[in-house]
Amino acid sequence: MKYVIKGNKHEWEVVIGLEVHCQVISNAKLFSDASAASGGTPNDTVSFIDAGFPGMLPVVNEFCVEQAVKTGLGLNAEINRKSVFARKNYFYADLPQGYQISQYDKPIVGNGYLDIELEDGSAKRIGIERLHLEQDAGKSVHDLLPGKSCIDLNRSGVALMEIVSKPEMSSPYEAGAYMTKMRSIVRWLGTCDGNMDEGSMRCDANVSVRPVGSSELRTRCEVKNVNSIRYLMQAIEYEARRHVDVYENGGSIEQETRLFNPAAKETRTMRGKENANDYRYFPDPDLSFPLTVTEELIERIKSEMPELPDERAARFIKEYGLPKDDAARLVSEMASADYFEKAAQVKGADARKTANLMLVELAAMLTDRKISIENVEIKPEWLGRLTALVEDGTIGLRTAKDLIIMMEDTRRDPDSLIEEKGLRQVSDTAAIEKIIDGIIEANPSEAEGYRAGKEKLMGFFVGQVMKATGGKANPGIINKLLKEKLSK
Ligand code: MN
Repeated sequence: MKYVIKGNKHEWEVVIGLEVHCQVISNAKLFSDASAASGGTPNDTVSFIDAGFPGMLPVVNEFCVEQAVKTGLGLNAEINRKSVFARKNYFYADLPQGYQISQYDKPIVGNGYLDIELEDGSAKRIGIERLHLEQDAGKSVHDLLPGKSCIDLNRSGVALMEIVSKPEMSSPYEAGAYMTKMRSIVRWLGTCDGNMDEGSMRCDANVSVRPVGSSELRTRCEVKNVNSIRYLMQAIEYEARRHVDVYENGGSIEQETRLFNPAAKETRTMRGKENANDYRYFPDPDLSFPLTVTEELIERIKSEMPELPDERAARFIKEYGLPKDDAARLVSEMASADYFEKAAQVKGADARKTANLMLVELAAMLTDRKISIENVEIKPEWLGRLTALVEDGTIGLRTAKDLIIMMEDTRRDPDSLIEEKGLRQVSDTAAIEKIIDGIIEANPSEAEGYRAGKEKLMGFFVGQVMKATGGKANPGIINKLLKEKLSK
């Protein structure tokens, strides 16, 4: 299922590399003690360092360094014991220093990888080239005062991790899967909140195309600052098609930076792409000692690493016998994985059935009411108990669905609701038998029809019994008794 763009002359394949900027979860900024919290009054959290005052000295925030190491370990990457902060020189109104402190040829994290799942269920490993730490710039605000531009430096100096993949993705789907996995990993690690719509995780896509089967790397264009996974996939699709059209019409692609317009679903030129030497990188003399990561620090962080989504999914499959798809859906968020695991611990709750109840019925209620698993009123123990109650025949599946709504509305456990509302399933064989006898007697021609071979009529009888018992009779017992009685 290779992703191929059919042109008039050739078939083309796409080469994609992604640069992801992740805002580091940290109280303070990367080189100052100003708050890194966002959303306050403009210019409220700006130290002299963040405002680029002359003579101020940056000091590395060790917690941000630990967060980068943790993310590196989560991406199976080499941690560089020594790395160097470098100045990346450029002028922007919202960059008061006139340079960004970043890392250039010696980043804190080197080669790593993450695994994505393709449409057909197979796995693909995507290489990661590096992760480096850098500071964010401020923000220009053009729509606050008519005829004027304002600068908000609150974001200036906030720590970012830039994670650069190898150009190893070959379809919009793969790029989407990579971002989804990356987002999930940083969220599980607690190193970035992954909120793409708030800009705390954003993505630049490097896109080029080549004739199918060729191994050349043609000129790439960079689509900058895409802030949703859906837009990323659309931007790549558009950009790749644009390259194909240019090549097939005899043109050539210029290396440049482009922006994606989601409304028009197209990319347009932002600026010609600078090369690294345009930035005149050099080691920051204010941070002249290499950044050192000790063995002790790496060992400590390793010992604190949570179980990551892939490992946890594998354990769910092995330990609880879950189908692969269910396990993958449960680990998409740590909160849902935790919820499932608590529910499945309940005595008598079969894990597969608990997962099913959660992913079908509970999920439907959550979607319907637009609430997240973090905010649901139903305790995981109640969901597990609900599974157990279906399992031992106390209630039927239909009642279980109703109870999910009732538990959410009343914040009460299933047992007390079943008692109060008389929802207990009728499993009393004698009582059901009596009802069945009555129904067969009242519908002699249907009974005759069934006996003569019209087996479809079983559905009619089951429906009648359900109706007569208000849906509370145990379906297993109904079926068994009906078969017995109708074959006589
Ligand atoms: Mn960057």
